[in-house]
Amino acid sequence: MSSSSLSYVHPTPNSPWGTYLSQVDRVVPYLGDLARWVDTLKRPKRALIVDVPIEMDDGTIAHFEGYRVQHNLSRGPGKGGVRFHPDVTLEEVMALSAWMTVKTAAVNLPYGGAKGGIRVDPKKLSMKELEKVTRRYTSEIGIIIGPHSDIPAPDVNTNAQIMAWMMDTYSMNVGGTATGVVTGKPLHLGGSLGRVEATGRGVFVTGREAARRLGMDLKGARVAVQGFGNVGSVAAELFAEAGAKIVAVQDHTGTVVNDKGLDMPKLVEQARKEGGIVGFKGGDTVANEAFWDVACDILIPAALEGQITAERAKQTKAKLVLEGANGPTVPEADDILGDRGVLVVPDVICNAGGVTVSYFEWVQDFSSFFWGEDEINERLDRIMMNAFSSIWDKADQHKISLRTATYAVACGRILMARQERGLYP
Ligand code: NAD
Repeated sequence: MSSSSLSYVHPTPNSPWGTYLSQVDRVVPYLGDLARWVDTLKRPKRALIVDVPIEMDDGTIAHFEGYRVQHNLSRGPGKGGVRFHPDVTLEEVMALSAWMTVKTAAVNLPYGGAKGGIRVDPKKLSMKELEKVTRRYTSEIGIIIGPHSDIPAPDVNTNAQIMAWMMDTYSMNVGGTATGVVTGKPLHLGGSLGRVEATGRGVFVTGREAARRLGMDLKGARVAVQGFGNVGSVAAELFAEAGAKIVAVQDHTGTVVNDKGLDMPKLVEQARKEGGIVGFKGGDTVANEAFWDVACDILIPAALEGQITAERAKQTKAKLVLEGANGPTVPEADDILGDRGVLVVPDVICNAGGVTVSYFEWVQDFSSFFWGEDEINERLDRIMMNAFSSIWDKADQHKISLRTATYAVACGRILMARQERGLYP
């Protein structure tokens, strides 16, 4: 059978998996002799589809479809979040798992890449039903996850409570408390200080480094942020603390602008209390499409995939794009931004702060010795700055985009590990 007849090498047009495959194709010229191993990056090592049946509060039986994909384990155990969303598909989880492989290698963590998901709208479940879905899913994927094989974490619509249920379920099944099986846990169950803020903090650190190299002063820089959740709100607050003006914020409820800068602590408070930013009194609510041509220096997509389309890439006034979200820029838009001289710090380095502190959490769990928050932030900043610096140098050396440079550095490490381990048997 020719390899091209395998379904996962034929992505749905404009799908995240298609985006990922085209990103890998672009890196091949920079892989040297390792290019002969490149197909290993184009197919997941292992993909598990599970049925998740639960008894609902009204006595009916509901079935949900769950996935866990281990894209590549050449450099270490799988690592990657679990997403609860009604639109999750196997193909999306494949792409997210592949981006985790690249991300962990880009920051040189001793992990491979994995991701999971359940096709469910958690907002429609009671707490009891949510717990049942989480526990049954964990039990079903329990045959491939573990502290030394694959370590899940939170992603969209999953949180520390869900990680606590996952840890407990896995522990019950193996007969011993296994805190290292998931990261992003509550603090008193082996979680790490700084984990919640880590991704937004990494976006800020890589953004600050990129701005410095562009000669852009953060004081007075105008920033637009899409997505005001865990990633977007923390990044926005850190940029505001550094003297930048957050001139536009968009979330699922709408778009709020203020040319003089939105008051971050107040907007965070509003989003927390009201479940969204719309109606914020410290700014004007405008149409959602107006977000994309707002006058700004830095644009931070921190919501969902595929948000920066070709059209929006032509519209944006930003000189620097910081990809807080995974896969927010479609390949065509990437080219347009590059041609327009807009610098894009790609997701696989920009939002790697979360998995970096997840790594710290896992290490702390194994040693049962916990670090202070200053130590965590200091180590995080150092890892992110070093990773950014080697990627910047690679891009400069070959005159390529930061995305291709990140893939070159990361894929080189992954394929070198593949080559050194050799093929079994
Ligand atoms: P979150 O659920 O905390 O926040 C998501 C935000 O996006 C919310 O403000 C929501 O209102 C907004 N949003 C949803 N749909 C939208 C739409 N159609 N238009 C505009 N805004 C919309 O999620 P998060 O943890 O902040 O994750 C955001 C992105 O960052 C995702 O792509 C995720 O995969 C990625 N990411 C998260 C982490 C992490 O540690 N949380 C790490 C790496 C990458």
